[in-house]
Amino acid sequence: MDSVAEEVDAVVVGAGFAGLYALYKLRGQGLSVRVFEAADDVGGTWYWNKYPGARCDVESMHYSYSFDPALEQEWEWTEKYAGQPEILSYLRHVADRYDLRKDVVFETRVTGASFDEGTARWHVRTDRGHVVSARYCVMAVGCLSVPKFPEAPGLEAFTGPWYHTGTWPEGGVDFTGQRVGVIGTGSSGIQAIPLLAEQAAELTVFQRTPNFSFAAFNGPLDPDRVADVKANYREVREADRNSIFGIAVEWPTKSALEVDESERRAVYQERWNRGHLNGLVQSFTDLIFDEEANETAAEFVREQVRGKVDDPETARKLEPRGYPFSTKRPCLDTGYYETYNREHVHLVDLREEDLVEITATGVRTTAGEYEFDSLVLATGFDAMTGAFLAVDITGRNGLSLREKWRDGPVTYLGLAVSGFPNLFTVTGPGSPSVLSNMVVSIEQHVDWIGDLVEHMARNGHAAVEATETAEKEWTEHVREVSEATLFPKADSYYLGANVTGKPRVFMPYVGGVAPYRQKCDSVAESGYAGFDLR
Ligand code: FAD
Repeated sequence: MDSVAEEVDAVVVGAGFAGLYALYKLRGQGLSVRVFEAADDVGGTWYWNKYPGARCDVESMHYSYSFDPALEQEWEWTEKYAGQPEILSYLRHVADRYDLRKDVVFETRVTGASFDEGTARWHVRTDRGHVVSARYCVMAVGCLSVPKFPEAPGLEAFTGPWYHTGTWPEGGVDFTGQRVGVIGTGSSGIQAIPLLAEQAAELTVFQRTPNFSFAAFNGPLDPDRVADVKANYREVREADRNSIFGIAVEWPTKSALEVDESERRAVYQERWNRGHLNGLVQSFTDLIFDEEANETAAEFVREQVRGKVDDPETARKLEPRGYPFSTKRPCLDTGYYETYNREHVHLVDLREEDLVEITATGVRTTAGEYEFDSLVLATGFDAMTGAFLAVDITGRNGLSLREKWRDGPVTYLGLAVSGFPNLFTVTGPGSPSVLSNMVVSIEQHVDWIGDLVEHMARNGHAAVEATETAEKEWTEHVREVSEATLFPKADSYYLGANVTGKPRVFMPYVGGVAPYRQKCDSVAESGYAGFDLR
């Protein structure tokens, strides 16, 4: 074992929404906490993703902490969907308001953590030589925090500058007059492309999969609506917690196939006009279960695309096809499809020509060479497991997490892993996580962890560990529930399909935020069934 320089009750890895709240919560319970954060400031996602157009796609007034009513009342969101600078300001404000920074060590990456069975403590190591001993290790490392690069080789050969949306430079980039290539049309690409097109002389977008993107109808928040939400914030939050995706939407009662075409269209149009991520998919009861029902919604979205894009050939390429509606994360956009009506914006469909390599001067596909001054990589993340597995975590009997998750992640409730006592995975695989309003999910996880820690202190326990049986049953349940839906039919990052060689396992829990919360609560109420406490 390394020599320990500091002893604390808990180490938290990461200072985004999850790490900051974990620090606030555990410190409030009287624990000493040390947080390590790779960045030089708080914010997580909202620190790293500074690309033009970055903004939340869950409404700001819902995509925010609920733990302190005073914070809710004093913070003023300016837009329906806040931009990255505003969300980062919010998280900085939270850090200052609760004096959180004093326990965070910035610019420091946790490289390893080993469990010492003799003392039932974690030894956590960093790239700057810290070794900290902690009773608990809370991994708040983020689900979308490890950037993923294009599979095609050659990036190092490119002589111009390139930028990944997930590590965008502070202060921005000026693309004025440049020929810019963008690889990727997921949420980040769809947000950035309209703004990149404002600057670039020529913008060429390489699209592998056309996404379902809905108009956000973003804009300044109506003061009356803000006042109304603020007056009813407790009910608003409670409704979000008791919803499927962490944002309350009326529960549908009808199948898409039991109503006639005109009624169906009217429902879709009304939902579309709201500009919400999860509104359309909850129009009818069966959109994520039944392919025929799903296709009616898919076709509605395709019609919107055709209505916005002038050139029929470009529209055809942009129409989302080949996988069911909503089984990859849909996007919200502001002027995305309309951008392709601009003369200097070009679309390359990578289903019609393969991306072969990145060259010194640009991108080569099977159809030809494209020359660029700069490249923008909107190629997403090694989602859900990437940041956990980037740390060399060793549990009981020298078991490594990398070994344990070799064939895909296994967890109990997405919160804990058998063989790794006192280690918690906030919004880990097996929890609703990326399928939810993540702030709702983060608060629920951290509160649950805080309650368990308190329970252990009250009852004199030094270690808590998920049993193998509970973990197996939960992982099986997560798989079964996903297989009852259309979700596994898409090559999504939910399935690890965006990363070559990643095991194909459906990672988030699709059973819904409310049922999941009830399950976690019932586990706690039963004295932590499925956990060994010792
Ligand atoms: P993160 O914010 O990712 O923070 C994790 C932190 O841990 C990072 O700062 C990272 O540097 C640090 N870290 C990781 N590993 C280590 C290590 N080994 N050592 C030290 N530090 C480490 N979710 C929604 O619900 N609604 C949205 O509208 C939404 N929009 C998004 C838009 C973008 C562009 C992206 C990328 C994600 C979006 N998400 C959204 C998901 C978003 O990641 C979560 O909502 C939330 O911000 C996650 O918070 P977190 O603290 O769990 O993780």
